[in-house]
Amino acid sequence: MELVEVNEGLARILVPKAERIYDAPVFYNPVMALNRDISVLVARVIGPKRVLDALSATGVRGIRYALESPAEEVWLNDISEEAYSLMKRNVALNFEGELYEEGDRSYLWGEKLIVLNRGDANRLMAENFRYFDLLDLDPFGSPMEFLDTALRSVRRRGVLALTATDTGVLCGAYARACVKNYLARPIRGELCHEAGLRILIGVIARYSAKYDLGVEVLLAYYRDHYFRAFLRLKSGAREAEKSLSQLGYLWQDENGRFTYERAFLPERSKAHGPLWLGPLKDETFVEKLVKEFQGFTPAHKKTGPFVELLSEELDVPFHYDTHALARRNNLQVKKVSDVIERLDELGYSASRTHFSPTAIKTNAPFEVVLDVLRGS
Ligand code: SAM
Repeated sequence: MELVEVNEGLARILVPKAERIYDAPVFYNPVMALNRDISVLVARVIGPKRVLDALSATGVRGIRYALESPAEEVWLNDISEEAYSLMKRNVALNFEGELYEEGDRSYLWGEKLIVLNRGDANRLMAENFRYFDLLDLDPFGSPMEFLDTALRSVRRRGVLALTATDTGVLCGAYARACVKNYLARPIRGELCHEAGLRILIGVIARYSAKYDLGVEVLLAYYRDHYFRAFLRLKSGAREAEKSLSQLGYLWQDENGRFTYERAFLPERSKAHGPLWLGPLKDETFVEKLVKEFQGFTPAHKKTGPFVELLSEELDVPFHYDTHALARRNNLQVKKVSDVIERLDELGYSASRTHFSPTAIKTNAPFEVVLDVLRGS
């Protein structure tokens, strides 16, 4: 395999040279540097002792956790032989000390302990019961096949970080696959990304509940065709019940008006869900994240503006896409900033949302938003 060296954050990483990233024998996507930047920031805020990068590929994510966060023990794992050899080379490139190899496992004891493993992530997680303070699942597609073992491998008050790149499934392009994989009915149209993210968190809350675990969303977002969530687990039957009480359903009519309702079962037909109707961020946590960003050099130039956008976003379920509303109701398109300003003048809260550059989040009722779009 022909390799090239790239710098990302504080890490130097050898990655396969390939025309298209999905053709490479070991996966590395430079666009995901933003995902890794935010993950490192999260790790800096929560200060985990033991971290697992369960699906590691080149090792870049785990290596960045080790170099850029206070973690004392970082595990990197991949099932692929080629990925395992490459992550060993990448660890040697970034840390001093000798690598001790034992079959499919290697250790490097330096300032931090780095453990490299070649094997199935489910097997590794099953062998390490309630061990990791931060467990990161960054798979191809859906994280669902790893969810049960991850919930058992993370400590009872630890943090689970997951990526889902099967956007077509969660956004309703393949509705039957969403029912099968996420046990929920998705929605199409302008709400599909927010609903997809909420379906993902919703199913995690449901899986967690049987282990008497609740989930608290530290931060969850959609970006570049993937979903990402950082969830703090909360131990106890009450916490599990509290999380389940944040589940509910969404309805939308053809004019774009949406309604939602917290309930275990939907009371009306044509419901989308079940999905998470609780917060998508913890305000105190995000404040710390923004502060942490001040002393941080991001690898991706959009990380800063994105963190700012997330921190300023109003945290209410669902949003109005001004273009979609104009189209659905035969109205002229208005500037998002003007709509926000007008809603503000009328005494409502309103903000931009990371789900779409043409959308707003607001606590104003649907009719008021339409009036503002009509120009009154
Ligand atoms: N986390 C990496 C990063 O930030 O660059 C990218 C990981 S890549 C999307 C997914 C990786 O999961 C691949 O390298 C693949 O070999 C590995 N993988 C797939 N199934 C696995 C399994 N059951 N156990 C462990 N690794 C697996």
